[in-house]
Amino acid sequence: MARYFVWTIGCQMNKAESQRIAGYLDSAGYQAATSFSDADLVVLNTCVVRQRAENKVLGTLGLLQGLKNEHPNLQILVTGCLVNSNTQELKRRFPHVDLLFKPGDYPELIAWGQKQGMPVEQRLLRYPRNDAGIAPSPCALIPVIQGCDNFCSYCIVPYRRGREVSRPLEEIVCDVEELARQGIKEVTLLGQNVDSYGHDLPEHPDLADLLNELNSINDLVRIRFLTNHPKDISLKLIGAVASLNKVCEHLELPVQAGDNDILKAMRRGYTVERYRELVHTIRRKIPQISLSTDIIVGFPGETEEQFEHSLSLLKEMRFDVIHVAAYSSRPGTIAWREYQDNIPVEVKKERLNKIEELQAAVASKINSQLQGRQVEVLVEGTKKEKWFGRTRSNKLVFFEDAGDWLGQLAIIQIEKTSPWSLRGEVKK
Ligand code: SF4
Repeated sequence: MARYFVWTIGCQMNKAESQRIAGYLDSAGYQAATSFSDADLVVLNTCVVRQRAENKVLGTLGLLQGLKNEHPNLQILVTGCLVNSNTQELKRRFPHVDLLFKPGDYPELIAWGQKQGMPVEQRLLRYPRNDAGIAPSPCALIPVIQGCDNFCSYCIVPYRRGREVSRPLEEIVCDVEELARQGIKEVTLLGQNVDSYGHDLPEHPDLADLLNELNSINDLVRIRFLTNHPKDISLKLIGAVASLNKVCEHLELPVQAGDNDILKAMRRGYTVERYRELVHTIRRKIPQISLSTDIIVGFPGETEEQFEHSLSLLKEMRFDVIHVAAYSSRPGTIAWREYQDNIPVEVKKERLNKIEELQAAVASKINSQLQGRQVEVLVEGTKKEKWFGRTRSNKLVFFEDAGDWLGQLAIIQIEKTSPWSLRGEVKK
């Protein structure tokens, strides 16, 4: 039987798309391989959001060229954000690639598959399953809106994934009902700008409407969604998170900078004051909320003082999790055209370390408050002989037990905490 290997780098959206591609190949009769060398067909799902990710992709494409020289029948498919509209140029650079298809362009993949004699799949809702026919994880990622209309000055996403296109509400509900029947307990709804969901659909449903519908699906236990945009998140949505019992108390709310001039140059569409007010509103309406944020250091021209503004906002907001990245200039973006990437690498690194240090201290304090408390964990799998899962607030929890907890809700008494995870004992 022919074997496939899907290699994925980048965001949750890429992971979701890789799940769907793997599902399609499963249904076409392929078997999952464990490495490139073990496969007859390889799919690279790429990311070019930062130079480092792009370098990794290019390195992997080089490695595959060597493999293809040895095994000329190896088929190589490339998708993700490396694939822009100029596929001719990519074809010229990577002649060993058999198919380049834009992120989410499943019709292109299916048309290619048909030429290879694969069956036509009407709907790509086939998650990789184990031999018993059950999905190996109880959590599924569901893309609900593709693309982004925002054009933040540093971001390559709108150029690669195009303008926002929402999936019809009924189609998503139908997919999630089917997944719940297959044993999925938690869904995470994905969009580069998930708050924009529905504005391009005929009846203009919004994300809160979608959450309302999904909340009534039997057997589904938890619903999450990401990524929010501080300028687009609505009071209606905050109200939905506060009132719907299956929607988890966790929000990803990227701030990106704590200085108004930098925010303006980033074209984020809000000020520090508005962001602060928003966080206060969310915390007032959902007291148990856990908040994550993203921040970029070393944006062109960022002075020491402007960086300090970011640092002090983070200190004040006390996020549960911070994803920090050093600015990486991406050809084609507004920032690339208009500003010089003039902050030295060492300075970016130093700023990044300062934020990581601060966050380790903040998260350590926040998590230590859970010591001795009981939390509800949806168990996702095992790592190094320990069960792991997440709380509704998205805290990673490990515990040891001989029972089979996969896909179960376990009540865990927390015994040890760190800034990144918790450890405890199951209460029976
Ligand atoms: S909201 Fe901004 S940062 Fe996020 S994907 Fe869109 S353009 Fe990029």
